[in-house]
Amino acid sequence: MEKKTFKAESQRLLDLMINSIYTHKEIFLREIISNASDAIDKLHFVSLTDEKARAVMADTPSINIYTDKDAKTITVTDDGIGMSEQELEDNLGTIAKSGSLQFKKELDENEKSEIIGQFGVGFYSAFMVSDDVTVITKRYDSEQAYKWNSNGIDGYTIEPCEKDKVGTEIVMHLKEDGEDEKYSEYLDEYRIKYLIKKYSDYIRHPIIIDVTNHVNTAAEGEDPKWESVASRETINSMVPIWQRAKNEVSDEDCAAYYKENFGAYSDPLATVRVSAEGIVSYKAMLFIPSEVPFNYYTREYQRGLQLYSNGVLIMDKCEQLLPEYFGFVRGVVDSPDLSLNISREILQHDRQLSIIAKNIEKKIKNELKKLLDNDIEKYEGFWKNFGRHVKYGIASDYGTHKDELSDLLVYYSSNEEGKLTTLDSYVSRMPESQKYIYYACGDSISKITSMPQLELCREKGYEILYFTEDVDEFVVQALVSYKEKQFKSVTAENADLQNEEEKEETEKKQEDNKDLLEFIKESLNGKIVKAVISNKLKSHAVCLSTEGPVTFEVEKYFAAMPGNDNKPKSSKVLELNPENPAFNALKSAFEADDKDKAAKYAEILFAQAMLIAGLPLDDATHYCDLVCSLL
Ligand code: ADP
Repeated sequence: MEKKTFKAESQRLLDLMINSIYTHKEIFLREIISNASDAIDKLHFVSLTDEKARAVMADTPSINIYTDKDAKTITVTDDGIGMSEQELEDNLGTIAKSGSLQFKKELDENEKSEIIGQFGVGFYSAFMVSDDVTVITKRYDSEQAYKWNSNGIDGYTIEPCEKDKVGTEIVMHLKEDGEDEKYSEYLDEYRIKYLIKKYSDYIRHPIIIDVTNHVNTAAEGEDPKWESVASRETINSMVPIWQRAKNEVSDEDCAAYYKENFGAYSDPLATVRVSAEGIVSYKAMLFIPSEVPFNYYTREYQRGLQLYSNGVLIMDKCEQLLPEYFGFVRGVVDSPDLSLNISREILQHDRQLSIIAKNIEKKIKNELKKLLDNDIEKYEGFWKNFGRHVKYGIASDYGTHKDELSDLLVYYSSNEEGKLTTLDSYVSRMPESQKYIYYACGDSISKITSMPQLELCREKGYEILYFTEDVDEFVVQALVSYKEKQFKSVTAENADLQNEEEKEETEKKQEDNKDLLEFIKESLNGKIVKAVISNKLKSHAVCLSTEGPVTFEVEKYFAAMPGNDNKPKSSKVLELNPENPAFNALKSAFEADDKDKAAKYAEILFAQAMLIAGLPLDDATHYCDLVCSLL
């Protein structure tokens, strides 16, 4: 029999398959099953207009898999359209189809077999696991069947043969088991079941295999007698849950699917279902977890959604579908518009994919907003788990995403103990005299509420947002303002809390104590940029505020990072309360010309202000000695 050689480019792809060191060899089954499913679809399509096709169509076209442990073969049969002699030649002798061709081009560029990812690699992938492949096929409109055979290395043969039914049968003879790969595993019932479930669960036609069940054959009342009974069973679920109409699928169904497939222990906080038709058609089922995945903060956690095309899994974690700040979302996207034969590189630039990603982002955002508006307690749970991510989303990329995300921000505030507020409701509560959105930073709410800088703010009835995470300050720097109201730290020197009258008064006191304030600055020797009469203290003696963009939180944030060069330092302003006895003591010493004592007082007050701000003292021993020397 004449042996024909493969076209050069096919041979190259084949060589790669045969010598593949790729670890996902198991995908060969997915590829063969997908072809079988396509062939059934094609016959169905032709039958709409072709009497002959209608006559040979099976009632329930299916895909059957048989294994033979002795012969070491896996056989996949389908009730599809079949191939003529010429089609066998064209389809399996060359890389005829654009998908495979595209794949080959990718290989040229990368020259590495590792990139044979989870992507469509087509029929030839059978040679990753087999050393001999036979295709027996009969086209729907032909009396004659043909047999194609190849070991992948030295060409292929085609000859006429016998076959009853229309369709195709692919017999793969497995390679010998090697050190690294146990090909014989593919003969195992459980392994095949697993592969079908994993990759082809949502193929629309039944995939049927031999299943062994252990059945009790004893009559009632007798001792149980277990026997292995083999039967043919459909393994795939066929209609994926996300393809079913919304009213057909209960919340419980969705939750069960989520837990089973995404390793979660509790129901999702929210489920989002999308059925989009337009420039790109797709269905999606997205889950917002109610708990932090156990490996979320490890490098193992990979964000991404499962990507399907027509029920075939293309990618398990498609990153491009989820922005980093929604990386906690799990779920599935299925679009018939995507080709199976896509590679990582192509995915990255895929326009359809980015349209889907944009839509999905919007849907997630809307769902979260809905939750926030309707069920703040539930939202609080979400926020505790993933709020940081949303904040990082705002702070990163130079605030590119701030407009989409700022509505999702919530903070504890002085408005109501233990209750979160949105920026929107904060702004709606602002009295007319209040110009800014005030916030205060600290490690904990209790530390913040004891800050002396809050005094005047409180007295004025201005609400204060409590910032307890290091990212909060960066969020505000990215936001700059919300609804045209600028953010202002209560520890900023220009916190602008006083009315005109109060301002005038402060300025006057400032003028009256000019020399003293200058003296304090001098004696503190570069530790502060200036000393002022406070515009925010009511009872406390001192506090620190900052001038310019670097706040205490920013200073602390960078101080905690490794390295010690050029770290930003805040420009500190020492604010003094002239109504406090400590101020008077300092003033008396200064006026009595006891400069030494006055300098000591100044130093102590500064150290106290540092401690209140949560900043470390350069020399704690010196401070203690100072205090003792005055006792
Ligand atoms: P692709 O599926 O991307 O086109 P393949 O290499 O998997 O590439 O298959 C090449 C061609 O062989 C298919 O396009 C199809 O025409 C044909 N083919 C493969 N398997 C079958 C089958 N089971 N029944 C009918 N035709 C098939």
